[in-house]
Formats: sequence, structure tokens, C-alpha cells
Amino acid sequence: MKEFKHFINGEYVASASGKTFENRCPVDNSLIGMIHEAGEAEVDAAVRAAKAALKGPWSKLTQAQRTDLLNKVADRINERFDEFLEAECRDTGKPRSIASHIDIPRGAANFKAFSETLANHPTEAFRMDTPDGKGALNVGHRTPKGVVAVISPWNLPLLLMTFKVGPALACGNTVVVKPSEETPATTTLLGEVMNECGVPAGVFNVVHGFGPQSAGEFLTTHPLVNAITFTGETRTGEAIMRAASVGLRNISMECGGKNPGIVFADCDIEKAVEGTMRSAFVNCGQVCLGTERVYVERPVFEKFLSRMKEEVAKLKLGRPEDKEANFGPLVSLEHRDKVKYYYDLAREEGATVEIGGGIPDMGAELNDGAWIEPTIWTGLSDDARVIREEIFGPCCHIRPFDTEDEAIALANDTDYGLACAIWTENSARAVRVAEQMEVGLAWVNSWFLRDLRTSFGGAKQSGIGREGGVHGLEFYTETKNICIKL
Ligand code: NAD
Repeated sequence: MKEFKHFINGEYVASASGKTFENRCPVDNSLIGMIHEAGEAEVDAAVRAAKAALKGPWSKLTQAQRTDLLNKVADRINERFDEFLEAECRDTGKPRSIASHIDIPRGAANFKAFSETLANHPTEAFRMDTPDGKGALNVGHRTPKGVVAVISPWNLPLLLMTFKVGPALACGNTVVVKPSEETPATTTLLGEVMNECGVPAGVFNVVHGFGPQSAGEFLTTHPLVNAITFTGETRTGEAIMRAASVGLRNISMECGGKNPGIVFADCDIEKAVEGTMRSAFVNCGQVCLGTERVYVERPVFEKFLSRMKEEVAKLKLGRPEDKEANFGPLVSLEHRDKVKYYYDLAREEGATVEIGGGIPDMGAELNDGAWIEPTIWTGLSDDARVIREEIFGPCCHIRPFDTEDEAIALANDTDYGLACAIWTENSARAVRVAEQMEVGLAWVNSWFLRDLRTSFGGAKQSGIGREGGVHGLEFYTETKNICIKL
């Protein structure tokens, strides 16, 4: 049986308390292994190792040397691709066909993209006049923030974790990562890669456990942590902000969403169906950027709905290794309970279940897994809880609209503001609508298309701050102004 230990100061260590908890595969609820739960002692050891490493060989590396090292990490993940793929699919149950295109390659790429951004980013410099006529020169100088705590979720475990660890290390910080308790495997494996590539001990550390009263809380309240970057639910983000307020630590928050799709009658309907299918159902609907509310202009409403139902009926549920399968289980039975609760609530709130709505019969071998049917509803009122609360499952509600202004108002009528997808062939309309959306990411005629040089983050209750490209540099470095009197 597998054992997932902490990775502290370049070594795998067990919890002194001996406390462990189960890691189960959501495909069939089989036991994968036991995860060590960090107590305050392990978290303290990890943070102190990270603090010490800031002054060690890591700090002596030039930017180019750090870039070389991180490129090596990316290459080594790709060399060990199959191991990462296997580990990610076992933890999450997602189809290999998806993880091999998204999770692992993009997880590796995150170690390359940010080094390049950093290398090409100019230094701020201002020459100023002074009364003596000789002037002064101001130069912006960036230094690492210090020890960065990385708290990551389970839906895209490697990809979302390296999206933070990549830029944090590129900027010269050291990190302590607390992966989700549901998905410890790829983060643990990354420790081996760091050692193989010669990343100095203490630069990358991992502690396992839960949030409150466990590794997450111990890490975010540790006084030697200089900055906290978090991806997860908005309510968890609030708890972490409270922890970060003590000692005034920097935070970056990527939180929940209830993202709208707007389908105008002048769109390419097949493109809109293909994109909305992906945005609602890929990764079993467990993507923060995913679409749970779809607004369709009335003349194409029936056509769009019937095409979506046809496509949902074609989704093939199956094990990760099943080459035909493009739809896996939810991440855990606990999460399935939550999604199923909303499926039942939708009926109570008066939804018409257009397709799905229940738990599929997967046969004796898989029936203990966290399977759920992909689901489409219509007919809910705009104030229904199913319309207002993030479900994070493979489902969407489709509603007609009549005017552009109405569509914008409906789409923005939410506490969240992460992403939206707009489907129209009229480019003037696309820009006009995108500019009015209260979100951090607006896609036109696409979804999940990401250039790593661009900003990433949410408006309203979907987050605070932006990462990605130079925006990541702002968070992961401290800027000092050096004023030189001439
Ligand atoms: P979660 O908030 O339950 O957990 C995220 C992480 O926080 C886990 O590692 C967890 O152990 C830890 N945690 C929980 N309580 C904590 C506490 N009090 N102190 C410190 N750490 C704590 O989220 P999840 O269920 O793992 O992920 C799903 C959520 O993440 C959804 O809401 C989704 O929208 C969001 N998400 C957002 C983005 C984004 O970029 N905006 C990306 C992916 C997922």
C-alpha cells in the first residue's frame, strides 16, 4: 500500500504523531494508500527549512541558473509523464485522455513560462531633478517575498499547484505546499523530481493534512510565512484571509465561481455547443472556470438546448484507462453527496430536468465510486439556490433571454466574478459585452484558452489579486525603490 509522507528539507518524513488518514480512488472507492497528517511540529519544520533555504545556495543562484533549474524540473516531469499521469488519474478518477492533454503537460509548462516572463521584464527607472541641479536616479529592485505558503485544491492538482510554485520559485522564494487532502500524489512525487534536478533542500516542501485544526491552518497561521497563495472555495479563502491578517501577510486568492455563458442568436451554434459542453462537463464539471449558468437568445434557444442534450447523451462514462471514456467520477463520495444534494434541490425548486439528474448504474465493479450523471436543467427562477450557489459538478441550467442588456444583467447577477464565455460572430457586440462583464476572465468564442503571460484571477467573491505573467511577479516579489543621489 502507498504511503504519502511530507517532503521537508529534501527528505520524505512521517508524522511524529503517527497520525494518518485514507486516500481512496473515486473510480471504485478502493484504498490507494495512507496519507500522513502533519501536526504543528511538521509544519514548523517545513517552514523553518524554507526560511533557512532562503539564505542557502538557492539565494546565490543567478536568475539564469534558477531558470535552468526550473526548466530541468519541467523536463523531468515530462520524462516521468506516465508516473504523474497514473498518480493524478488514481487520485481524481479523471480520464487519462484529459489528464494527458491538460493536467500533466500544463503542470510541467508552468515551470518554464514564468522564468521567461521574469527574464524579459524591464526594471523601472526614473531620473529626477533636484534643487542642486545634479539630480537623482530611482531604480526599482525586486527581491523575493520569502517563504510562500501554497494551499491548493483537488480539481487540477498538479496544474494549479505548479501555477503557483513555478512563479514563486522563479522569483527566488521558497515554498511550503499543502495540497488538498483528496489529491496528495502528484505534489508528493514532485519532491523526488526536485531532488533529481538538484533543487537545494528546503526550497520546495510539502505538508499533508486538512484545513481547520490541521496542516492548512498551522501553515497559514505560521508567523514565518511571508505570503499565502490560495486556490479553493470562497469560504475557505475568508478563513485564510483572517489568518493572514495577523502579521499583515500578503495574500493571493483564487476562489469559487458561478460562471455564465451567453449564447447570442448570431453565433456559430456548433461552436457554441462544443464550447459549452466542454465548459460545463469536462473534468466532471469540476473546473473553477466552468459554466453553470447558460443564457441563450430566444430564437436559438430550442435548437441549442436540443443539441446540448444530444451531446450530453453521447458522453461516455468510464475508468481513466478506458480510451473511449471522456467523463470520470466526481473527486470523492463526499463531494458527490454535495452535488447530489443540488440535483435534488433543483427538482424541489421547480427545475425541468432535461437530461441526467441522478446517479448512474455503473455495474458492480464501479458502483461504489463517486459517479454522477451529467445534467441539464431549464425552468428555474433567477433567485433559485441552484442558480446562485456554486455546485462544482457536471451540470448547467439553460435559460432564454431577449435582449443584450437583459443577458448582461442576468450574467452579472451573482456574488461571483471569475469567468464568462460569450458566443457571437459579431465582434463589436463581443467586445461591448465582454467589457461589461464583472469577471476576471472573459472568453469570446472559446473557453479555457490560456496564454500564461496574461492575468488570471477573479472579481467580486471569486478572488483577490491576479497571478499569471507579470501579475505573478507583482505578488511573488517585493519591490524596493533605490534612490541614488547623483
Ligand atoms: P477548499 O477550499 O475546500 O480546499 C482548498 C484547500 O484549502 C485544501 O488544500 C484544503 O485542505 C485547504 N483548507 C481548507 N480549509 C482551510 C483553512 N481553514 N486553512 C487553511 N487551509 C484550508 O476547496 P476544494 O474543495 O479543494 O476546491 C474546490 C473549490 O476551489 C471550488 O470552490 C472552486 O471554484 C475553487 N477553485 C478555484 C479556482 C480559481 O482559480 N479561482 C481554481 C480551482 C478551484
